[in-house]
Amino acid sequence: MNERSLAFLYSPEVEALSYPPDCPFKTQRAGLARLRLKSLGLLGNENRFEFEPRRATVAELKQLHPAHYLEEMQRAADGDLTVDGLHMGFGGPDTPVFKDMFECGARACGAGLTGAELLLQGRADIAFNLLGGFHHAFPERAAGFCYLNDVALACQKLADAGKRVLYLDVDAHHGDGVQAAFYDRKDVMTISLHESGKTLFPWGGFEDEIGEGAGYGFNVNVPLPAETYDEAFLTALDSVAMPLANAFEPDALVLELGLDILAGDPLTHLRMTNNVVVEIIERVLKLNCPILVAGGGGYHVENTVRGWALAWRTFCGENDECDFALGMGGVMLASTEWAGGLRDRVLAVSAEQRRAVEPELRTTIENVISNVFPLHGLEALRLGGRQVRSG
Ligand SMILES: [Zn+2]
Repeated sequence: MNERSLAFLYSPEVEALSYPPDCPFKTQRAGLARLRLKSLGLLGNENRFEFEPRRATVAELKQLHPAHYLEEMQRAADGDLTVDGLHMGFGGPDTPVFKDMFECGARACGAGLTGAELLLQGRADIAFNLLGGFHHAFPERAAGFCYLNDVALACQKLADAGKRVLYLDVDAHHGDGVQAAFYDRKDVMTISLHESGKTLFPWGGFEDEIGEGAGYGFNVNVPLPAETYDEAFLTALDSVAMPLANAFEPDALVLELGLDILAGDPLTHLRMTNNVVVEIIERVLKLNCPILVAGGGGYHVENTVRGWALAWRTFCGENDECDFALGMGGVMLASTEWAGGLRDRVLAVSAEQRRAVEPELRTTIENVISNVFPLHGLEALRLGGRQVRSG
């Protein structure tokens, strides 16, 4: 097999851009991941190259966001927050108004579009846009640190080129903005696995939200109970998400790889380790289509950066055997530095945790299967059947 070609989208201009210091969303994660990859020798050659993305034009942003929203956003960034702007969500606790808000969003969208173009031109098999993943942005509403929806725009770009697009969102939060953008379409299938809306923002994304009109059955939600652990997550992935993804036969995948799913994230209640990242990537590679990876959430900065670096390394096809060996005897160099390589240690699962997660998740999986599987010619009998065991 030829070596896969990976593009890392990054530009020096974004180094200077930032959310307010007290905001948990840290744009610096992309740059930190880049440095980590360089230090590991995984970035900076012909097949693992950096690519400077462009900024999205206003005309491109208007593909999703109306002109008056973009104008109010620019106005707010310039220090003039109007009543209209407030109604659009600007200035909320998770949508602060700050100088770089428009520029950050336009750069993230530009990177997503650049990534989509690299895939369409065949210049990369995998494109990483860790500047993006703003899945909560609606056409006229900002929410959850998201103002401009780079992932929806990238999906649209790929769909405009005639591709069947799968959007797979594993961020801890429901991908509500992307769901809304494609809810009545069948050329873009959206699958979101996320902490249940019963315990986490944006308080929706339940398994009965399955699309409408032509898109009926092409929107899939798998809400995960709080405390969900690796094995339970993989059960959901293998019994619901991957069979549907395979049945859809996508020409392109947009993967929202928010790592606020990892245990220790300060904003969420899931208990996964980054070992699931490897499992996710091994599965999506089997779809055999080009992949745009978007960053998304992840509020424990070091865990997020390490998990993204692990994702990149997995896409590179690099063996990580020594990582395990190191991990076994690894020591903490400092509170934020794990000497055992990129992989997390496996986390023990308590009996209590299993009892809290398993019955609820089983019901959810059954619901998704009975709601959606028949619409794709899949037998409902595959219930609970995990096909692949983790490492
Ligand atoms: Zn999130």
